[in-house]
Amino acid sequence: MVGKFIGFLTKPEPAIDPVCHMNVDTKNPPGGIHDHEGVTYYFCGPGCRVKFSKEPEPYLSGEKGGHM
Ligand SMILES: [Zn+2]
Repeated sequence: MVGKFIGFLTKPEPAIDPVCHMNVDTKNPPGGIHDHEGVTYYFCGPGCRVKFSKEPEPYLSGEKGGHM
């Protein structure tokens, strides 16, 4: 995987954006984070975070996601 790593000593832990399924750096999520039922989700961009925060269930159940 080619990409820039932020932080050298601390290993980045990528998370999956539940909306578009992109890898997101948990140390510096471009779209910020959202807590849902005690779980923290990370987003590639503000648009994905807004979509998820409005309606998280379809993304968690797999009804939505992937292609727009
Ligand atoms: Zn996204």
